[in-house]
Amino acid sequence: MADSVLVIGAGVMGLTTAVCLAERGVDVEVVTGREPAATTSAAAGAMWDPYLVRPAGLVERWSRDTLGALTGLSDDEDSGVRLVEGTQQSRIPCDLPVWAPLVGARQCTSDELVPGFVTGWRYRAPVVDMPRYLAHLARRLRDAGGRMRRHHYDTLADVLRERPGPVVVNCAGTGARSLVPDPSLEPVRGQLVVVENPGIREFFCDDTPGAESLVYIYPHVDTVVLGGTAEPGSWDTDPDGDTARRIVQRCAEIDPRLADARVIECRVGLRPARPEIRFEEERLGTTTVVHSYGHGGGGVTLSWGCGRETADTVLRLLSLTP
Ligand SMILES: Cc1cc2nc3c(=O)[nH]c(=O)nc-3n(C[C@H](O)[C@H](O)[C@H](O)COP(=O)(O)OP(=O)(O)OC[C@H]3O[C@@H](n4cnc5c(N)ncnc54)[C@H](O)[C@@H]3O)c2cc1C
Repeated sequence: MADSVLVIGAGVMGLTTAVCLAERGVDVEVVTGREPAATTSAAAGAMWDPYLVRPAGLVERWSRDTLGALTGLSDDEDSGVRLVEGTQQSRIPCDLPVWAPLVGARQCTSDELVPGFVTGWRYRAPVVDMPRYLAHLARRLRDAGGRMRRHHYDTLADVLRERPGPVVVNCAGTGARSLVPDPSLEPVRGQLVVVENPGIREFFCDDTPGAESLVYIYPHVDTVVLGGTAEPGSWDTDPDGDTARRIVQRCAEIDPRLADARVIECRVGLRPARPEIRFEEERLGTTTVVHSYGHGGGGVTLSWGCGRETADTVLRLLSLTP
């Protein structure tokens, strides 16, 4: 194929999209302001869990597709993806989430509920060690002939001046706010704490509707990710010590083994929140920009479904059949 496609962004959306394109024979270059390890995606927990993202139709379709893809990847130890069993619980009565059948969730028995919780559901789903997973995607991109380089674009006009190709894919996450520009996109800051794993094998997530704070425990092999926060409008990427202490304390109330677990690091990321994901084509001169950003708190959960559809769109634009 003669035409090269530029993908802006090396978070989970940009890398997954680039892998989908490269593995279908498209010549792809990823251009990114930050290394994959320094993106919001690297800071994520991360579990398959459609959270803080709309519209429902896309979320339903893409989360289903991604569940299948991540489940397949869990066979490969190097991918950083594992299937983990655990529970989501609520302090007030509420219904099972709409996606419960996808993961075979069943209602918790009363002895599975943590004191203070009145309902919950048990299931198995992908838990993703994001720094490892992004490295896996970057390797896969390279193996399929894709390239990556560091560069920050100030505006889309700069992109088109430098790269007047037929198609550009915009996976800039919160960066799209100034790049596009798109004032409807706003950051929802998330902080979490990574501790040494004191023997936790199951995930836990407080899913109480309207709860003031997020509480989740995602076990990886040697570490556990403890969450978290969701602070709309904050661009602050520095971890806050008091917040970190409160996160550990809240998680230790759920599982006391966490109280003395050694803290390895604190991570902060900015969820790209928008009233709805922007997934559409925009014609700018001779170039079509395919926007794919605004995945809120569910980028990992939607990544393969969205990446594959973006690749279909690009192939159509390059006049090839998908
Ligand atoms: C604490 C926390 C926990 C989370 N947990 C989960 C979870 O459990 N499950 C889940 O599904 N999701 C989770 N999320 C949400 C998920 O992390 C995001 O939805 C996802 O990372 C968004 O990916 P992205 O690739 O769009 O953006 P990013 O990861 O932010 O990547 C954007 C990329 O674009 C590049 N870029 C931006 N602007 C420019 C520019 N002008 N020029 C060049 N490059 C540019 C950046 O350098 C970067 O490479 C969590 C988020 C946080 C913060």
